Formats: sequence, C-alpha cells, structure tokens
Amino acid sequence: MSLPLPRPLFRAVLSRSYGTVQGTPPAAASLASRIPPALQEATAATAPRTNWTRDEIKQIYESPLNQLTYAAAAVHRRFHDPSAIQMCTLMNIKTGGCSEDCSYCAQSSRHNTGLKATKMSPVDEVLEKARMAKKNGSTRFCMGAAWRDMRGRKTSLKNVKQMVSGIRDMGMEVCVTLGMIDQNQAKELKEAGLTAYNHNLDTSREFYPSIITTRSYDERLQTLSHVRDAGINVCSGGILGLGESDSDRVGLLYTVSNLPSHPESFPVNALVPIPGTPLGNRKMIPFDKILRTVATARIVMPATIVRLAAGRISMSEEQQIQCFMAGANAVFTGEKMLTTDCNGWDEDREMFEKWGFYPMKSFEREQTPDAPPAQPKVENVETAAAAQVAASA
Ligand code: SF4
Repeated sequence: MSLPLPRPLFRAVLSRSYGTVQGTPPAAASLASRIPPALQEATAATAPRTNWTRDEIKQIYESPLNQLTYAAAAVHRRFHDPSAIQMCTLMNIKTGGCSEDCSYCAQSSRHNTGLKATKMSPVDEVLEKARMAKKNGSTRFCMGAAWRDMRGRKTSLKNVKQMVSGIRDMGMEVCVTLGMIDQNQAKELKEAGLTAYNHNLDTSREFYPSIITTRSYDERLQTLSHVRDAGINVCSGGILGLGESDSDRVGLLYTVSNLPSHPESFPVNALVPIPGTPLGNRKMIPFDKILRTVATARIVMPATIVRLAAGRISMSEEQQIQCFMAGANAVFTGEKMLTTDCNGWDEDREMFEKWGFYPMKSFEREQTPDAPPAQPKVENVETAAAAQVAASA
C-alpha cells in the first residue's frame, strides 16, 4: 500500500516537475495553486458523498481541463477497473406518438419529424433482439417506450415484465425507460427482475422548463424516488447541447450527486438534432464541454457508471478514448439507439482491442454506488501525481 504524500510535499513535487519538464520555473503560480481546493478534496475521496455544494461542483467543472481529466482518471482507478467498459444495447419497443413535448425528441407527436408511430413490439421479437445483443457481446439490454407514463397500461406492463424476466433468464442485466411510473409499477418491475430504470433529468432545474413543459422536474424526481424505493438501480443523466449554459451542466450534476444515493448509472447524451423538432437546427456541443461533464461526473459520483449515450457516433475514436480515460465506462452499442444511429458491435470491439479496453461482465457493478469500492486501484490522487512525476523525471 502506498502512503499519501503530505500536501506541501505534493505541491513541491508538482512545482519541481513543471520546472524539470519546461526547463524554466513557471512564471505564474505553481500548478498546485491552480488546482481548486474542491478538486483537491474530491480527488482524495474514498467513498461517494451526497452533500455537494453547487460552488464545489462549479470549481471542479471549471478546473483547467488537463487537471480535471487527470484527477478524474485517478478517481476512476480507485473505484473501477479502468479497462472495463459496459456494453449495452438499447431497443425501442414502442416508437413515436408520445404526448410529451420534449423539444429534442423525434418521438413526440407534437413535432413534425415524419417518424411513424408503432404499436409495442411483441415479446418474442424483443427477446430475439436481446439474444442477438448478447451474442455480440452486450451484457445489458435496455428497452425504451415512447410514453408519458404507465397509467392505464396494464397489458403493456404485463408484456414488459415478460420481456424483463426473459432477458434476465439469459443472464443479462435489463433496463427499461417507460416514462413516469408509480410505486406499484416500480415494485412489479422489480419483482420481474428489472436491474435498472432509466429516467433522465436532462438538464438543470432552471433550464428544464425551456425544454419540456408537459411534466415538471419534480415529477421526474418523484419517479426516481419510486424506482429507488423499489430497490431498482436508478439510471439518470442529461443531454448536452440543448442550448444550456455551463451553469446548467453544473446544476444537473448538483441535483444528481445530491440525490439520497447516487444513480447507479449517469448517461451523458449529446443532442442529435432531429429536423422537425424545435432543436433541429442546433449545432453539436463542443467536445470540451462533453469531456468536462464526463470528468466532473466521475469525480462527484465516483462509484457511478458514467455512460456515453446519444451522440457518441459523432465523436472521433480519439475523443471517445479521452472520455474513457476521464471516467466514462459504458456505451450503447448495436444497430440503433432508439431512433438514431449507433456505433456498431464490430466497430466497438475493434476500438476496445486497439486501446486496451474490454467489456465489463454482467452484474460486475451490481453493488449500489454507496457501497465501498470493490477493488481500490490507487490510494489517492497525490500518490498518483507523484507516480506521474517520477515517471516523467
Ligand atoms: S417523454 Fe420520452 S418519448 Fe416522449 S417526447 Fe419526451 S423524450 Fe420523447
């Protein structure tokens, strides 16, 4: 076990290393003095915490990007196997015709996107798709239905439960996203064997009404609470590039990292603009904002799975790798991701092999995010920094 360096020595080592690498002493303040206190504290953490202040998260999010991603990598190694990436496949089991007005969504009946609404897919067809996903290496199968909520959908719920238990019988993790659910529906899904329920908060509480008006932020939080109370893992994240500010991205992270327990999974989506939706003309969010969000999520929710979701297909291979190195450890892979294109299994397998990653096994991270980490990888960030200094000396 390596011992942490006392902070003054850590600062001295970092200052010396800068001098060594550049040949001249840094003109401005030392590197350590440019690392905000909140980032220094957060990177030394050995357990998740749910009492973040918004200012702490802002400090972390606004840190120099190279320091932020380096700190995130150190935290990632302490809480996860940094080479393991969860491979999930997401199938739309009921497309379009949704009554909600989410400004980014092709499936809202309020937007003219040309998407045809369908009935719910038959159970057998869904199980066949899950089998194919498993054969191709996915360990989690997620199913999405374009509904506001599950009120009055008894037959649909019965079918979804059959899908859930059928997929669990294949040894896969299973997740659904069906809109808002109540306590009883959550309980029924838990009894059917559901691993996780996805319900994204999308953005900050302040910016949310600019994107959706048909249901409130609090209604979303209530569904998350029903899911949590039923003992199902919460999967809840956001969409970047909706026109939100840095402060909104911080606000989203503030809300999720202060939930009673951290989500088991935090999807980071980049808006895929769909013609015909109110956000159809938006430009892709700059990559540095995605990377900042991934790294900050890793630091403030150290045991959570950080998932690269929609928009990954627009990233270069190198950008994806930067995200994995800064703490992302799950992807959606397969033929389609709901209504948008998705990176395929073969392409992902090749990329993983090339860069030294491998697929996470099923149920490898079944413990709740509040449980102590199974395999500490690095004692603390100062030790990691010292190791880096030694390597570059
Ligand atoms: S609730 Fe879901 S399916 Fe319906 S419009 Fe919003 S994002 Fe789309």
